[in-house]
Formats: sequence, C-alpha cells, structure tokens
Amino acid sequence: MAINFETYDNDNIFAKILRGELPNTTVFEDDHVLAFHDIAPAAPVHVLVIPKGRYIAHDDFHRDASDAEVIAFWRAVGRICHELDVAGDGHRLIVNQGAASWQLVPHFHVHILAGTDLGPLLAS
Ligand code: 5GP
Repeated sequence: MAINFETYDNDNIFAKILRGELPNTTVFEDDHVLAFHDIAPAAPVHVLVIPKGRYIAHDDFHRDASDAEVIAFWRAVGRICHELDVAGDGHRLIVNQGAASWQLVPHFHVHILAGTDLGPLLAS
C-alpha cells in the first residue's frame, strides 16, 4: 500500500514508539526529541533521531515546527553524535523525504550512520 505523505498517520511505527506501544533502544530523550537504534542497522552505528511532534517529513517539520522544536532537534543530533563518539571523524546524516527517496516511515527522522567507511554517497 502506498504511504500517505499528505496527512500525519497516528499509527505509523514511530508514533507507536513515542506512545510506548512499541519498544525501542533509546540513546537520547528530552522534551522535544527521541533517539534510538535502528531495528535494521545499515552500519555499525545507526541511530534514528525523531521529533516528538507530529511531523511527516523534513518539509513540514521545517515549515510548521516551532523555533524551539527545530533548535532542540538539531542540537540533539549534534549532541548524540558526540555522545556516540562519531562527531569528528566521522558520520553521515541522511534524511529521506517522500516516495522518491524511499522514505518508509512517515514521521520525520534523521539517520545517523557511522562506525565504518561509509563509501560514496549513493550506490550506483
Ligand atoms: P526511512 O526509509 O523512512 O528513512 O527509514 C526508516 C527506518 O526505520 C529504517 O532504517 C528502518 O530500519 C527503521 N525502522 C522501521 N521499523 C522500525 C522499528 O520498529 N524500530 C526501529 N528502531 N526502527 C525501525
């Protein structure tokens, strides 16, 4: 079934994680942000950072979130990279937006990937 990127789906997996209906391995949490290990890691370090607000993707997050939410989110991403000891050298941040990017979960998230040579940006 096609993913709905027009309206927020309260039953998406990350919404269920935020409500405590599904487990997660939390690495960071504050009033605005939750970060946890990806269930199917694509690298030795693969952490997902999500806002606690109901945002489908990068586009509506940056359009509709408050300044406090946006600041808290990106500060958390940087802090988590430090706490994972991958800040300086190095890591990759990935944000998928919509169908063309193969976004699978319609709740905005940043992937933090690290722990190995990550190779070129896109596989050919
Ligand atoms: P996307 O393709 O939407 O950018 O990435 C979604 C990510 O969510 C994938 O890397 C996938 O492995 C991860 N994921 C999907 N379901 C779960 C889950 O139930 N728990 C966790 N921790 N990660 C999940």
